[in-house]
Amino acid sequence: MDLGIRDKLALVTGSTLGIGRAIAGALLDEGARVIVNGRNDATVREAVTRLSRRGVAHGVAADLSTADGALTLIDGIRQLGTVDILVNNVGYFEVKRFTDISDADWLDMFQLNVMSGVRLARALFPGMIERNWGRVVFIGSDQSVKPNIDMMHYAMTKTAQVSIARSLAELTRGTQVTVNSVLVAPTWSEGVETFLGKAAPGLGKSVDELRTDYFRTTGATSLLQRWAMPEEIAAQVVFLCSERASAINGAAQRADGGIVRSLF
Ligand code: NAD
Repeated sequence: MDLGIRDKLALVTGSTLGIGRAIAGALLDEGARVIVNGRNDATVREAVTRLSRRGVAHGVAADLSTADGALTLIDGIRQLGTVDILVNNVGYFEVKRFTDISDADWLDMFQLNVMSGVRLARALFPGMIERNWGRVVFIGSDQSVKPNIDMMHYAMTKTAQVSIARSLAELTRGTQVTVNSVLVAPTWSEGVETFLGKAAPGLGKSVDELRTDYFRTTGATSLLQRWAMPEEIAAQVVFLCSERASAINGAAQRADGGIVRSLF
């Protein structure tokens, strides 16, 4: 199926690794031009070189944990044309007990996971409405719809994204612009591997053991019973970014491997 996004310009935040890089690659495979973003020039250059085998990739380094970083990205992309597709993917997580999460931890998590998407949508969404075509996708999580005592600050940001996406979708009424969220399953990304690699020695386990253990403990309700691969998530995101998804708007779609035991 031709997804109908050839030559569209897409921005994927946090796309030098993990799910973001898989989304960037899948968009390139569909003929879209893609702006890759990460924190520093070297990693962005490396990702652009790697992704350029699949199509036209540009890179803009910017740290999206600050308002200045968002402005750097917005300035950097201006010369590349008008953005048709925005994927708010960047985000980080950490495991911390509620009593150990400081004010700064809460606010830092909010800055990167929520405000990066708000700032970019504020800059790019009006142009989409003006041109009467656009796609905005927020990368949420199974954590968007459930409590989590191990990472309350992270879960809060993933819920906030879904709320913002749905409100933003209200502003698209009668246009060909859509705004949706994807609630992502536990996914074997570089970020997750690094996180488990750091935790493993303290727990007296190998990364492989932790990888498997997850589905006996926290992830027991998963129907997939394995970590999703970034490419599996990217397939759904790219469809939502496409012309073919024109009737899907204001939705929070699950790509969570059935881990959330709920009918709707
Ligand atoms: P990852 O850590 O593997 O990759 C994160 C990417 O963001 C990298 O390219 C990194 O360079 C970039 N990045 C990090 N901080 C940045 C900053 N301050 N400014 C600019 N770029 C920055 O992450 P991932 O696991 O692929 O997660 C991507 C998204 O998917 C996140 O929003 C995450 O919350 C969500 N998600 C992930 C999982 C999972 O299990 N991996 C599950 C649900 C949701």
